[in-house]
Amino acid sequence: MPVKSALYVVATPIGNLNDISLRALEVLQSVDIIAAEHVQNSKHLLSHHGISTRLMTLHQHNEAVIAHQISKDLADGKSVALISDAGTPAISDPGAILVQHIRKLGFPVIPIPGANAAVCAFSAAGFINPHFLFYGFLPSKSGLRQRVLKTLAGLPYTLVFYEAPHRIQESLNDIMIVLGAQREITIARELTKLFETIHQCTLEKAVEWVKNDPNQQKGEFVLLVSGATPAEKTDISEQALNTLRLLLTELPLKQAVKLTAEISGENKKALYQRALSMKP
Ligand code: SAM
Repeated sequence: MPVKSALYVVATPIGNLNDISLRALEVLQSVDIIAAEHVQNSKHLLSHHGISTRLMTLHQHNEAVIAHQISKDLADGKSVALISDAGTPAISDPGAILVQHIRKLGFPVIPIPGANAAVCAFSAAGFINPHFLFYGFLPSKSGLRQRVLKTLAGLPYTLVFYEAPHRIQESLNDIMIVLGAQREITIARELTKLFETIHQCTLEKAVEWVKNDPNQQKGEFVLLVSGATPAEKTDISEQALNTLRLLLTELPLKQAVKLTAEISGENKKALYQRALSMKP
């Protein structure tokens, strides 16, 4: 039996319907209500596992209103499970507003762990550096996307992004422009599904690979980009880096470095190292 007046945050599969824990199935079977991002999508999973618990919709546009309603259900002694379309709720998915509201009211919030696309991809990528930064979705507009990427460029951690098929090409292109053509990327596509693909190469090659193969533009993606190397994470000012980036588009590498050093007063050797990873 579930705990009375508790909110369960339940992870569901990211593709393969059997990637769900026994505990998650027990909870989904026995709670009074399941709050699901899209009821229709979740019905498929629930009927596959023979679960017929009452469903209600909680998505990003009604989360605050539904949070209030769920708090009343919990006050009446009911138990509620939260699920999203795929993976772990509140990870690039709705759920955080509800959880915050319920925690503030003092009701128990019980996580039921399971699938998550970022962790699934990282586990199969083989990055020796154990540190990674989960960013999730980059902004949809190129200008803002590049600005965000610049703030991440010097971090020595693997960068983990989510991406959708209609933006995969332009995002990869921006990642290459800002982080440099020679950084390593793992593209994890359609994890746990029929066309699961895990491909590793440099950013430069990844842009070409996806451009030249329409199959690689379909489905859901996790992108894992290796972190900045020690040469890349010098304390070069953002202004000098912008100058260097601009000059590299017009001049040969050595000349761009020399001019940037003169303009900015930054160390020429450090600029040279950085330029090597930037030059498209
Ligand atoms: N809450 C989910 C989780 O725990 O991973 C993420 C939900 S987010 C709305 C959806 C994004 O997650 C997709 O656009 C894709 O970037 C990534 N994703 C989800 N399922 C995936 C899969 N099977 N293979 C690769 N990426 C996936």
